[in-house]
Amino acid sequence: MLQNKNQQLDWPICHSEISLLGLVDFNKSCGGDLPNSGKLIDYHVCNICQFVFSQEMYGWPKEQFINEVYN
Ligand SMILES: [Zn+2]
Repeated sequence: MLQNKNQQLDWPICHSEISLLGLVDFNKSCGGDLPNSGKLIDYHVCNICQFVFSQEMYGWPKEQFINEVYN
């Protein structure tokens, strides 16, 4: 789910407003050279506690985790 930076959202841990931090290709990893997937993942940061997270996987069914996350 991509959100506009100016859109004020609430996140369920501390119920504070969040801001869009940036977009990263789904295949980005710390080691290795995977080709870009072409799918951008949105990362947000909580304006109060600074926790960084992505809303992308919140709605995924178990089967999608098995198919798309390697570990
Ligand atoms: Zn927070």
